Amino acid sequence: MADKFDVIVIGAGPGGYVAAIRAAQMGLKTACVEKWVNKQGKTVHGGTCLNVGCIPSKALLETSHKFIDARDNFGEIGLEVGDITPNVPKMLEFKESVIAKNTGGISALFKANGVTALEGTGKVLSNSKVEVTGKEGEKETYEADNIVIASGSVPVEIPPTPLTEGLIVDSAGALEFTEAPKRLGVIGAGVIGLELGSVWSRLGSEVTVLEAMDSFLPMVDQAVAKETQKLLGKQGLDIKLGARVTGSEVKDNEVVVKYTDSKGEQEQTFDKVIVCVGRRPYTQGVLSDDAGVKLDERGFIFVDDQCRTSVPGVYAIGDCVRGPMLAHKASEEGVMVADIIAGHKAEMNYDAIPSVIYTSPEVAWVGMTEQQAKAEGIEVKTGSFPFSANGRALANNAPDGMAKVIADAETDRILGIHIVSQHAGELIAQGVIAMEFGSSAEDLALTCYAHPTTSEAIHEAALAVDGHAIHMA
Ligand code: FAD
Repeated sequence: MADKFDVIVIGAGPGGYVAAIRAAQMGLKTACVEKWVNKQGKTVHGGTCLNVGCIPSKALLETSHKFIDARDNFGEIGLEVGDITPNVPKMLEFKESVIAKNTGGISALFKANGVTALEGTGKVLSNSKVEVTGKEGEKETYEADNIVIASGSVPVEIPPTPLTEGLIVDSAGALEFTEAPKRLGVIGAGVIGLELGSVWSRLGSEVTVLEAMDSFLPMVDQAVAKETQKLLGKQGLDIKLGARVTGSEVKDNEVVVKYTDSKGEQEQTFDKVIVCVGRRPYTQGVLSDDAGVKLDERGFIFVDDQCRTSVPGVYAIGDCVRGPMLAHKASEEGVMVADIIAGHKAEMNYDAIPSVIYTSPEVAWVGMTEQQAKAEGIEVKTGSFPFSANGRALANNAPDGMAKVIADAETDRILGIHIVSQHAGELIAQGVIAMEFGSSAEDLALTCYAHPTTSEAIHEAALAVDGHAIHMA
């Protein structure tokens, strides 16, 4: 038997690596097992988020946005740039360098905090043991007082569009195109589909997004969702709602996608197709038959509110358990679990987890939509404010979008804030803090905001809850 640890974490994505660092900071002897191997054959930390998710997608979103901004908008504000062309291979190189800096940073943090990095595949055995199988198949068993499973998620594949090398790809494949496909099909108008569709549309692809549902972004307040749909449509994304994909055929380096919509059976030909229909929990090989850890009916590891599994001393966090599949949710669960193991009281407020779609403009929200609140029988009052009436947004030449505050009609407590605007992902933090502190809309309305900032639109939306926005007739 090898070393004994206070905590062994399985998986070094944003859930697992944060749990491991926090546990070590709390004075616990901690190890983290990771099996992800990069193209150079090296074990890397950071999981989906740093290797094929949040970070690389944002590198491509930012560079492609800069290209469009320079090409289409700079002239308007008095900056002549001449001809500007995207160099996709160079963009991919930049993306890879960003991944390397981020993943290398985690490995350095492990060293600095005294986390033992174990390379290989971790499996929970019975009796508080973890078996680690290395790259060459060698096995080692470790004992741990506590085990944290943070094994993440993988993309969902659907039978009508099986992944086909270089033609029908998942989100990871869509970050590797070496040139913009002429005709790009995106299946699924969720967060990832809209982000990846935006990247390649900006770089020259004709993008069609096929979405089975009739509603657009149902998790976002529908006033904000409608505004977003309009703005993305203007950018050239052809978003077809109520389009259920039924099959596909690959011929001569093209993909014919068949789908049904309100008019009947349709088909469309693409040069490449990205399947973005969601992600499913990944638990393959993580649990031995006698581990005793239960899964729920959808394959997530079953946990309570504080991420305890059905086995005492075994916790699970992040994408492999219920709740939104978001990096920051995974990380906060990691902190909570490490604190609990260290003997502290800790809990998470699942009502105040922000979500962001990093399109341009960005869409960001926290809490309920007006529609959800009403469906739950809550009487609400709302205030909205357009960025076209915000001085800083005009000075930024970014007047698109709106902010909306949803408050309880009786108590004035903020139930949700939904925004579509430039940097909405940054703006939403103030909504999260407001909700975390149980603020009323009046609390925000009586807060002094710096001028000129786009944050003032949130202030005005809060003032508008009682009908008193200043800069709106
Ligand atoms: P993961 O990041 O999936 O990490 C799990 C780790 O566990 C992996 O490294 C895996 O190799 C390892 N592992 C699994 N089994 C074992 C085992 N048996 N032994 C050892 N190691 C194991 N979220 C956001 O919040 N913001 C975004 O902007 C965002 N953008 C995204 C863009 C894309 C294209 C994608 C695909 C996802 C995006 N996400 C985003 C989602 C985000 O990546 C996930 O929510 C997050 O990575 C979940 O973290 P996790 O630690 O639970 O799992």
